[in-house]
Amino acid sequence: AKVFAFDKTGTLTKGEFVVKNVVEGGQVRDEELISVISALEKYSSHPISKAFESYETELLVESVEEFAGKGLRGFIDGEETLVGNAKFLIERGVAIKESVSPYTVIHASKGGRYLGAVTLVDEIREGCRQVVAELKNLGVKKSVVLTGDRADRAREVVNEVGMDEFKAELLPNEKLSEAEKLKGLGGLVYVGDGINDAPVMKVANCAVSMGKLGSSVAVEASDVVLIKDELKGLVDGVKLAKKTKKIVWQNIVFSVLMKFAFMALGVLGVLPLSLAVFADVGVMLLAVLNSLRMRF
Ligand code: ADP
Ligand code: MG
Repeated sequence: AKVFAFDKTGTLTKGEFVVKNVVEGGQVRDEELISVISALEKYSSHPISKAFESYETELLVESVEEFAGKGLRGFIDGEETLVGNAKFLIERGVAIKESVSPYTVIHASKGGRYLGAVTLVDEIREGCRQVVAELKNLGVKKSVVLTGDRADRAREVVNEVGMDEFKAELLPNEKLSEAEKLKGLGGLVYVGDGINDAPVMKVANCAVSMGKLGSSVAVEASDVVLIKDELKGLVDGVKLAKKTKKIVWQNIVFSVLMKFAFMALGVLGVLPLSLAVFADVGVMLLAVLNSLRMRF
């Protein structure tokens, strides 16, 4: 594995969003804005939606639809209501007020009117920086973040954990084409947690998912599952893989050499056939014993 690519939300970060503040410039009261967003987020399973679980709302929403990597659309009082990232609202013709922020920003609109935005924080998992450094020591050439979130936030995360690159504002299919490009640089390991990561996991040489937080689709599509959601497992995994490869080669070379030696001795009549058979089983036992070293 030469390249490690990571999803951001839920993989490098804990995936536990907390509402930080309401961005100025909205057209409604703060509570009203939060109420609209919470009403729609009740229909989502995205980690962002959990930030709004604690907010009560009496608003009724109809026909809610979720757009992966973008946000949600529903109808409140018969008016089209949108909740999601800036790109999503702009794409649907809403004039929004963009703000520079190192955090995740969620905008809302109702009936084409811009309501305002809230910023959310999602903490980076502990030990990420060390994992990235250790992977580098183990020979990983490049570590990259592929995210659907904004570039500001991605840059912040990349700097904080000491990675090489980031690609932000990616839709699920764009994540896929970025992963294919990375694969061209060498063996690609992709680490992710969400439904939108599953297609990328199919193309990666080795896919890793988060066992606890990860969606079942991601777990299903991956080759390795980090049961405790600890990224440190990646370092252990790479070490174990290297050790496995070394022992496999030792066994192959040892067995083949020994067999040829016994064959030659048998043909020359130096070794009786019965002893050659005995030696053959001995080689097999030694190979198995050598494999048991994997456990230590
Ligand atoms: P990541 O690749 O970091 O895991 P996603 O692709 O799941 O992120 O989402 C990308 C962006 O799409 C989010 O940062 C957010 O702006 C927007 N988004 C996705 N789902 C929702 C949702 N349920 N509510 C609001 N915004 C959402
Ligand atoms: Mg994710």
